[in-house]
Amino acid sequence: MNRITTVLAAAILVAAVGCDSKPAPPVAQTPMPAQPAAGAAKEKDLVCGMDVSADAPLSFDHEGKTYRFCAQACLDSFKADPAKYIKK
Ligand SMILES: [Zn+2]
Repeated sequence: MNRITTVLAAAILVAAVGCDSKPAPPVAQTPMPAQPAAGAAKEKDLVCGMDVSADAPLSFDHEGKTYRFCAQACLDSFKADPAKYIKK
């Protein structure tokens, strides 16, 4: 009987630990705000004039060139009328 008691105790212990286990704390994986890395290539957001990094996710290809933007709103403005922003 002693063995059964031990197994039972172990089962209870496992159950207790199981209930008590918390989900792992969220690892800080929030995307860092785009920091201009030293020496990183920069492109100009033609809509607002800000510098954006050359690997910024917001980009739009127009006439064989990739234009980059700091914000979706800038991209949308550019898309609506690229000629307005491209200086020739
Ligand atoms: Zn912008």
